Amino acid sequence: MGWKPGAIGSSWGTSWGFSMPQYFQGWELACHCGRQICSAAPMRAAFLDKLNALRHEWGKPLILTSARRCTWWNKQVGGSPKSQHLLGNAVDIRLDEDGSTKLVELIPKFFGPCGIGVAKNFIHVDDRGYEARWTY
Ligand SMILES: [Zn+2]
Ligand SMILES: [Zn+2]
Repeated sequence: MGWKPGAIGSSWGTSWGFSMPQYFQGWELACHCGRQICSAAPMRAAFLDKLNALRHEWGKPLILTSARRCTWWNKQVGGSPKSQHLLGNAVDIRLDEDGSTKLVELIPKFFGPCGIGVAKNFIHVDDRGYEARWTY
């Protein structure tokens, strides 16, 4: 609801001074609650812009295991009540291998001061506007 792929397309390329593909489809960012009526907020354009640039530089697919969440789904998955996922301002990126260190180092280049949580098989990234680091 409220999410239109391409609706935020006008911002692509302007922030980074060059145009790039839009790497993430609406379904990759959708709330996973599976409910007919989901109240998850749309992804923030500024967040997506940074995520897209990160993906561009990374040069390989970034598989998202979680992005938008409605309050109901956030509870189901045990998310924090103040989770940035509720604001369309966070994603979890799957880690298949030992790429975590490199990705964690690269994230601030695009996100600046931000939240990064590292688990064994995923990295949480959010655009909270100040630096926070933790492990799961
Ligand atoms: Zn939902
Ligand atoms: Zn997360």
